[in-house]
Amino acid sequence: MSQPLTDLTMLELAAALAAGKVSSVEATRASLARIAQVDPKVRAFLRVDEEGALRAAEASDARRRASGPASPLEGVPLGLKDIFLTEGLETTCGSRILQGFVPPYDATVVRLLREAGLPLLGKLNMDEFAMGSSNESSAYFPTHNPWDLSRTPGGSSGGSAAAVAAREVFGALGTDTGGSIRQPAAHTNTVGLKPTYGRVSRFGVIAFASSLDQVGPMTRTVADAAALLQVIARHDPRDSTSAPLETPDYLADLEGGVHGLKLGVPREYFTDGMDPEVEASVRAALKEYERLGATLVDVSLPHTSHALATYYLLAPAEASSNLARYDGVRYGLRARDVRGLQELYGQTRGQGFGAEVKRRIMLGTYALSAGYYDAYYLRAQKVRTLIREDFTRAFQQVDAILSPTSPVPAFRLGEKVDDPLSMYLTDILTLPCNLAGLPGLSVPCGFTKAGLPVGLQVLGRPFDEAGVLRIGRAFEREHDFFRRTPPCP
Ligand code: GLN
Repeated sequence: MSQPLTDLTMLELAAALAAGKVSSVEATRASLARIAQVDPKVRAFLRVDEEGALRAAEASDARRRASGPASPLEGVPLGLKDIFLTEGLETTCGSRILQGFVPPYDATVVRLLREAGLPLLGKLNMDEFAMGSSNESSAYFPTHNPWDLSRTPGGSSGGSAAAVAAREVFGALGTDTGGSIRQPAAHTNTVGLKPTYGRVSRFGVIAFASSLDQVGPMTRTVADAAALLQVIARHDPRDSTSAPLETPDYLADLEGGVHGLKLGVPREYFTDGMDPEVEASVRAALKEYERLGATLVDVSLPHTSHALATYYLLAPAEASSNLARYDGVRYGLRARDVRGLQELYGQTRGQGFGAEVKRRIMLGTYALSAGYYDAYYLRAQKVRTLIREDFTRAFQQVDAILSPTSPVPAFRLGEKVDDPLSMYLTDILTLPCNLAGLPGLSVPCGFTKAGLPVGLQVLGRPFDEAGVLRIGRAFEREHDFFRRTPPCP
């Protein structure tokens, strides 16, 4: 093969495996070699599980010979954000408080990947408890953007996005509470899909904000995202919010194109603070959709300006409750030399949580406290309903909605760490999708003059991942952005 093995997409590798041109052990070794080569600079991995990945790859090759592949992606090595519980493999969620925590069981999505025969290469860096947009709140180290090592890959699934972009893994899983799959995908020229709330099980996924969190694929192509979603989208009785639906065939209509579709362009999503090069790339993509036979429709999502405040009340409120369980008794870190239980709690949490997590716990506790509950938490819930209704109305007019994923390209490491509000503001275009529970996709749509990737966001009706993927694929088919390899070492 003239192309390096690690440049293949997941589906290309799957085809090469099926044709007997390459083995899963060879593909896994190629990934491990690539990790050894570039990760000292990119720093996407918190933990490489060389032994576990090779063992799974050997088992995959043996199964293929003995009884045939367990799934169409049999043998394709992947990476996992460190938010997914992995039996026997340390899981920290990017936090000191979980240092040394070895889960006794797998998350449902991890089990599904193993059953489908995909070797898992290890755990990828992330903002602590998925709180952040740059990976700089990881308690361990920041991940660097393979397109420009002085910049962040975005967050919180920044390690996953960087590893996919740098060809260290063929694909990865991330989670998205307010944009954490889509924004890092946009910043790294990769594809990220946040499925509809309820489409993918959250069992064994460390909780940040339970009414917003969703697991999704991070890949180089839309077709790979569809194939990976096929493996993980499954009703799970262990997650009470998992939707009891059949999983459609996401590849069946992927090439169906956009001819005759109505695509909404929300005027509130093209705001003042937007980077002009991002806007130009996205506007060019919109033209392209018209050329492909879609009709662009001007739509309004009038409550957009309240989404940021709503999210930054509700997500911290839920987080403050979810994170109460880290007490020094049950998981990971335990403070030493303490007298009594209260001090154990206080010291463990004081030492174990980083600044951003503490800020969220304080914001959330305040919003939920007696006397403020009605004014903040309850009011935010009402605004959340209004935001959802904006989308319901828009989807009576259009089949999907298009916008930039992030208003700005990847920013420099350090640029926003001391200014949490300016960091929060970059989430403005991704948050409403989570508040409304909708599926959202980010697809590569070009580069700035400085060579930084730009992402196009496609939002769809609840449970219409197939439609969202088809619309993303229609654009991808016209371009080769995903073939471009980042200039990292
Ligand atoms: N950047 C957002 C936050 O900090 C979203 C994070 C996420 O989706 N996990 O909360």
